[in-house]
Order: sequence, then structure tokens, then C-alpha cells
Amino acid sequence: MYLQNLHTHSVFCDGKNTLEEMCQRAIEVGFDSIGFSRHACMPHPSIYCKGGEAIVEYFNKSKELKKEYAGRLDVFCGAEFDLYSIDPREGYDFVIGSFHYLKIDGELVGFDKKVDGVKEVVDTYFGGDGFKFARKYYEQIVDLAKIKPDIIGHFDLVTKHAKTLSLFDEDSTAYKSLAIEAVRELSKTVPIFELNTGCVSRGYRETPYLAPFIVKELKRLDCQITISSDCHNKDFFDCGWNVAKERLLDCGYKNIVILTKDGFKEEALV
Ligand SMILES: [Zn+2]
Ligand SMILES: [Zn+2]
Repeated sequence: MYLQNLHTHSVFCDGKNTLEEMCQRAIEVGFDSIGFSRHACMPHPSIYCKGGEAIVEYFNKSKELKKEYAGRLDVFCGAEFDLYSIDPREGYDFVIGSFHYLKIDGELVGFDKKVDGVKEVVDTYFGGDGFKFARKYYEQIVDLAKIKPDIIGHFDLVTKHAKTLSLFDEDSTAYKSLAIEAVRELSKTVPIFELNTGCVSRGYRETPYLAPFIVKELKRLDCQITISSDCHNKDFFDCGWNVAKERLLDCGYKNIVILTKDGFKEEALV
């Protein structure tokens, strides 16, 4: 099986390692391909993003590494764009569209936070009602279609601390309906979703993003899936890969999608 991880962070945003270190790690753990996905900049300064000269350097370094690793590792230069990112879209091999900010009365409210941060968001903006938080999230995430990403990143990120904070019941019909409605809407324009194992490596959750009921719905909708680890530290490069693979097989997928020099194509899962 061709192993590719398109969602990786580095010192060009909030990751710990250089692009070279990420490439070396990919080879060490037997991967055939890596995609870099720097966080694109937001309208406000953020510790997660680096703009200006860093973007030029990111493109140059990626180009260099593509050449250096040719024949050993397929390297792609991408980015993780938020709905409200302000960077130009040109020049990337692929774009992951991820939703990290709600817009509430014109204000961008980040919720991809540690447990206390999420609690504060739910208390401040939703009167402590976690279900209202989930409803707003799924109402707004469908707008990611507007930025036309290649891949939808961590579609059910809203569940990050749902269990710890008892925000809502992930198994309830009410919650599932919100997610299903949003996935149906988004899949009309974005055919690829990622199974993201990052939350497992960071200890937030025991299982990857894309709950099984969402994967099953994606299968029914004929959408394609990519596995990624969203790693910010090379040590977690392939964390949770087998769990992700098993989940896809259990939900009826026989193939995943990988990026090639000629675009996305399907690859057998086993
Ligand atoms: Zn993200
Ligand atoms: Zn990410």
C-alpha cells in the first residue's frame, strides 16, 4: 500500500520540526509520500501562522526538498486554509479546508483549543449549552465550500472535548442529524474528506476524527477519503494509522485517495 500523509505541520507554522526532519521521519516509518500543510494566515495575528517572508521560504524549501527526495519520497507543498484565511491561494499542490473559527456577531471565535478554552467559548457564547455550540459549528462549516478546498480537514472537530466537558451526546440522533446534514451539503462541492488521527496522538480523544457514522454516510455519498495525522511533531507522524485504516475497512471502504503528480487517484487500502 502506498503510504501518504498530506496533513503535516512544521516550523513554518506551529509545528516543532523542520521540513527536512519531517521528510526524514516519513522515510524512517516507511512512507512513500508527504504533504506539507502550513496554516494559512488569519486576518488577526496568530501564534499558529507565519506570513510574509516565511511563505516565500516555505515554497522555496519545499521545491528544494521535492528535488532532493525525488525517487525516495514524493513531496507535495500544500496548506491548511481556514474559512477566513487571508493568504493567496496560488502555488500550492493541494489545499485542506479546515474550520477552526466560528463567526459570532461579526467576531471570529476560535474553538480549536485545550479543554478550558473550549469550555470558555461554550459558556461565553452559548450560555454553557454544548448542543447549541455543535449546531452553530455545523451550520457554519458548510461555508468551507466557498474556498473550494481539495480536502475537508477534521470535519467533526467540534467533538474534540465533547466527552470530557459533556457538551452533547455524540451518539444521539439530534447530534448525528446536524453532522449528516452538513456532510451532505459539503460533499456536493468537496468530494474528499480526511480521516484525521491527530487528536489521538495529542491525547484529546481515543479515536480519530470522522466518527464511523460520518464515514458510512460519506461512503453512501460516494466521497473519497484520505488518511492523515495532522502531526505537529515528527514523533507522531504515523500515529493511529492502523486504527484509521480499520475504521475505513469497517465502514465499507476498499480504497483511499492519494495525491499524485497527475492529481488525486484511488489506491487500494490493503
Ligand atoms: Zn486544523
Ligand atoms: Zn492541521
